[in-house]
This record gives sequence, structure tokens and C-alpha cells, in this order.
Amino acid sequence: MEDFDIRHEGQVREKDYENALRPLKFQDFSGQKKVVENLSIFVEAAKYRGEPLDHTLLHGPPGLGKTTLSNIIANELGVGFKLTSGPVLDKPGDLAGILTSLEPNDVLFIDILIDKGPSARSIQIDLAPFTLVGATTRSGLLTAPLRARFGINLHLEYYDSTTLQKIILRSASILGVPIEGKAAGEIASRSRGTPRIANALLRRVR
Ligand code: ADP
Repeated sequence: MEDFDIRHEGQVREKDYENALRPLKFQDFSGQKKVVENLSIFVEAAKYRGEPLDHTLLHGPPGLGKTTLSNIIANELGVGFKLTSGPVLDKPGDLAGILTSLEPNDVLFIDILIDKGPSARSIQIDLAPFTLVGATTRSGLLTAPLRARFGINLHLEYYDSTTLQKIILRSASILGVPIEGKAAGEIASRSRGTPRIANALLRRVR
């Protein structure tokens, strides 16, 4: 939330608000048509084969739906979902703890932040097969060997106004706030192509 001063409301409430508005199925996820089309086929195919989905890299600016999509992937696969981020995985032991807790075919989401070097130590552990979904705003800064290990590599684009309007109408209906289409359009046009900003503006306007 770079653009809105929500400090007095507390980060926790902001997260609750975001989570309440998060679509849980591909069907409820607006926009990013190509990405969603590809992902639904990959997910269907993995389910059909009874195998975990290939490791997936989602990249694009913040607030465009990377976390949301990884959630949806796990839901649609019908597997568990664990979320972590780069800084949380400071020590190699931290990652081992998360990895060993995964059930077969689970989805692991890692928000990759590039400002720290890779851990120098390497460790070997036996793991159940799982899907890693990596999300980053700066895929160009990933090393080529790391990038090459993601079988699926998808880029999220900024949303057009019409799609954002649709997202705002959906969010308003979840929140039980009556809103006119034109008003949703006005909010959409001020959301800088970003659903997170659209939802935050809707909250302000409410
Ligand atoms: P990122 O992980 O890319 O920073 P998130 O997945 O956390 O972004 O999305 C931010 C907010 O925007 C969430 O509350 C989510 O519900 C909403 N959102 C993102 N993309 C969409 C979409 N395509 N349709 C509906 N809501 C969306």
C-alpha cells in the first residue's frame, strides 16, 4: 500500500480487507485473460495426470493479483497452500521447516525479494513433490538458472478500466455497498491499472 495512508487503521485490518475480496476461483478472477487461460489448462492437465503442477513464476507490478492467483491455483488443484517470503527465509533451517511440512502436491508460494544474496550453504532434504509459485516484481534480477527452473513463467499486465470497474462492482457487492456503474467507472479510472488500488479507493469512498 504505497499510495494510501492506512496506518491508523492497522496493517492487520488492511490484510483482512484484502483477503475478503480475494477471488478463490479462476472464474471470479477478472482480466489477465491469457495468463488465466494458460494456467487453467496447466492446472487441469496436472490434475488429470495426478501430478503436481510445474513450478510457476508470476511476475509483474505489486497489487495485480500474484498472491491471489497462487491461492486460486492451490484451490483449483484441491491441494494445500503455504505462503512465505524471502526475508522470512533468512536461515536455511527456516526453509527446511516449511518444506518438510508440505503434503504431496501442495502449493508453496514464495514472495521473492531480491535485495539479499542467496544463502551460501546448501542442504539436502527428502521432500514430497510440490509446486513452488514464485512471485516477484523484478524477474530480470533473478539469476538465469533460478528462472529456468520454473516450468511456467507468466507476466501480469496492468488492468484496463473496464476490467477494474468489474472488479470494483464485485468487491462492492461482497462488501454490501450499493454502487452505480458510473461511480465504479470513476474509481476504476483513478486506480492506475491496479486492483489493489481500486479496492483501497472503494474502501475510502465507502
Ligand atoms: P500481488 O500479490 O500481485 O501484490 P494480490 O494478489 O495481493 O497482488 O492482489 C491485491 C488485491 O487485489 C487483492 O485483495 C485481490 O483481491 C485484488 N485483486 C487482484 N487481482 C484481481 C482480479 N483479477 N480480480 C479481482 N480482484 C483482484
